[in-house]
Amino acid sequence: MVKEFHLPGSIYHGAGSLEKLADAAAGLGAHHLFIVVSSSVLSEPLNLSARLKRLLEKENLGLTIYSGLKGEPTTEHVKEAVNRCLESQADCVVAIGGGSVIDLAKAVSVFTVNPDRHYDEIHSLKKLRRLPLIAVPTTAGTGSEATKVMVITDVEIGTKMNPGHPGLIPDIAILDSELTVTLAQSYTAFTGMDALAHAMEAYLSTRATEMSDYFALQAIQLISKALPIAFNKGSDLEAREKMLLGSCFAGIAFSNSSTNLAHATGRALGARFHMPHGLSVALLLPFVIEYGIKASQERYAKLGKLLNPEAIGTEAEMAQVTLKMVSDLNDQFHIWEAGADYINQTHEGVIPLLVGNALAGNGILTNQEVPDRNDIDKIYQKLFNKISEYSVC
Ligand SMILES: [Zn+2]
Repeated sequence: MVKEFHLPGSIYHGAGSLEKLADAAAGLGAHHLFIVVSSSVLSEPLNLSARLKRLLEKENLGLTIYSGLKGEPTTEHVKEAVNRCLESQADCVVAIGGGSVIDLAKAVSVFTVNPDRHYDEIHSLKKLRRLPLIAVPTTAGTGSEATKVMVITDVEIGTKMNPGHPGLIPDIAILDSELTVTLAQSYTAFTGMDALAHAMEAYLSTRATEMSDYFALQAIQLISKALPIAFNKGSDLEAREKMLLGSCFAGIAFSNSSTNLAHATGRALGARFHMPHGLSVALLLPFVIEYGIKASQERYAKLGKLLNPEAIGTEAEMAQVTLKMVSDLNDQFHIWEAGADYINQTHEGVIPLLVGNALAGNGILTNQEVPDRNDIDKIYQKLFNKISEYSVC
């Protein structure tokens, strides 16, 4: 059977690697960069505006900074940003920010040169023309700097589209840990647990290959060790660097394999209760592992041994090590309390809606055991029971 594997053309990593931006852009033949940023990177403490000008001057590169994105990107954001990119006459798009910023930059790079294309055509194109694209993540979570997908909300019908094409993988990713040391403790946990879920789901997917397994296992090892350190001491540059590498490896793994039920159920929960993506996935991950642990016992046992080499036991016991580790991380990072802050209203009648939305999205058919309506209902039931222990009302 022929298998495919795609990843960014070049990856610069290590503290201070943003300094390579000008060289990287010049190497792609760029003259003027359209730089999509989260507004937070322009203010203290990163204060990147002056630094970017200084960095690019040495290669005589022009720049236009776009910081108009609030929240997750929509089709309206894309239209506005594409217009601004066309006005600037940029010949290269750069993203500096979290997954939403990188996804917006992906869409800008495509629609600036294909104004008449539709989102639903992208996956079927033989070749996807776009402007050169460089991604610099400032969170260690989505892995979007290495993935072939983007998530854009269609404002007309109110749904999230996630078109995929290998041409959406950025040409260059720059993983500079200095840009992530100021990430808040809660977002370090949410985005880090999202990255862990990407790697675990990629490893458990029916689409997993030898190559996606390699990146998934590396990611799980890096993240499980570095995330507690980065959470407790945000300024630890070594832990931040490992998190960025782990998150990028996890992105490569799931982009070439898939995410599964924790993402399908997490997306539905996140959309209903307006919570950060990583938090919604972290809340569901233990219950999804519990559901699939028998069907994937051998793989979960291998993960258990990787996570705790000292542990000994039967295959079923080693699989439980994985479940316990994920639940313990949620306890340690106060994930349940954070979930209770969002799920604070009565949820009578909500579960059937969540189940319907989860079944309608991606991440159902690639599970080793394909869940039905009843299975997903039980998973949400368990989550809401758990959350009720933490609710103040
Ligand atoms: Zn995710």
